[in-house]
Amino acid sequence: MNGGDRVVKGSFPWPVFDEQEVQAVADIVRSGQWGNPDCDGAVAAFEREFADYCGSTYAISCVNGSVSLRLALIACGVRPGDEVIVPPYTFIATASVVLEANCVPVFVDIDPDTYNLDATKLEAAITERTRAIIPVHFAGLPCDMDAILSVARRYNLRVIEDAAHAHGAELNGKKLGTFGDAGSFSFQSSKNLTSGEGGMVITNDDALYQTMNSLRNVGRLPHGQWYDHFNPGCNYRITQLQAVLLSQQLKRLDEQTILRNENGLYLDTLLEPIDGITPLSRGALPLRHCYHLYIFRYDKTRFGDLPKKEFVAMLSAEGVPCSAGYPHPLYKQPVFQQKNWMCYAIPDSVDYAQVSCDVAERACADEAVWIFQHAMLGSRSDMDSFAEAIHKIQRNVAS
Ligand SMILES: *Cc1c(COP(=O)(O)O)cnc(C)c1O
Repeated sequence: MNGGDRVVKGSFPWPVFDEQEVQAVADIVRSGQWGNPDCDGAVAAFEREFADYCGSTYAISCVNGSVSLRLALIACGVRPGDEVIVPPYTFIATASVVLEANCVPVFVDIDPDTYNLDATKLEAAITERTRAIIPVHFAGLPCDMDAILSVARRYNLRVIEDAAHAHGAELNGKKLGTFGDAGSFSFQSSKNLTSGEGGMVITNDDALYQTMNSLRNVGRLPHGQWYDHFNPGCNYRITQLQAVLLSQQLKRLDEQTILRNENGLYLDTLLEPIDGITPLSRGALPLRHCYHLYIFRYDKTRFGDLPKKEFVAMLSAEGVPCSAGYPHPLYKQPVFQQKNWMCYAIPDSVDYAQVSCDVAERACADEAVWIFQHAMLGSRSDMDSFAEAIHKIQRNVAS
């Protein structure tokens, strides 16, 4: 950061692949069967593999992890003007799919220790129009599903887990995405399992499966005719090229997830002693974190009042793949503040200028620092170097 050598010497390639991936894709290229209008063949094979991996009955692939959320929400039967509870500290898709379904996103703040939806604040947000909750397993850390599901049962709400960060993560020995009515995954380039773009929704519910299966394939039914369309779906199918790439990548997922989890636990022990650095809590339940992000809270008063943005710039300059994360909670985005939602079912009384979630605001502005998942595939000495980079910044701002 002062023009000398970087503390971090390691490099962190992503995606990870070898000749297996190249061969699998080449075989599809040579076959000429690139697409797959019947969603069978390589697409169905990967869906079966992913469902088995997660321990769910069904898996339905689609073009991305936004559409998978949307399919689940529509299949759950939400009506125009219904309210859907979402956290404000997440990627825009978690809330924008609610608008696309002609529903009203209701933001409930996150827990300061985990950055996941604060289940103790759910009940206060429920009205007679509330139909569903979309908890996000943020960064790959499991939400408090017991608490969320018990509120959902009490008020008869659907639960769609946004597991876009959470491939292979577990709570009490059970894969994330299998706790609610449906679980949604993204295979976009940055995610822990990727084919560049892609998505998946898993469920154990027969009716949800049948609706989502039809919606992603232009409203067709499995035994219907090609030009018979029974439901208002679009073409959300993936290609065989993506399916075979994902099948190969899935073989690597467990090993990568175990490594990230071990590195995360180790990095916790290195960062906890640093004054002004607080890794997020993993909670008390047995879990496997998959560290799509390794997140710690930064306290600038312990770093000579160095603003978070400058701290992150220095940490990057030292070679740590990191980011300051979202600049604002979602309700601050122009789409909400300027009422650009193109959703005519939202009552005029809804005004996101009145919304304020203190914990999410603080996380965005002052606290949250993200280290990216591919860096968590490094060695122990790489983790040591991340901690040393933080020590170096602290020494420099103090002197
Ligand atoms: C990436 C992501 C999505 C959507 O995924 P896409 O495949 O990019 O559409 C949804 N939710 C969260 C939390 C994400 O990070």
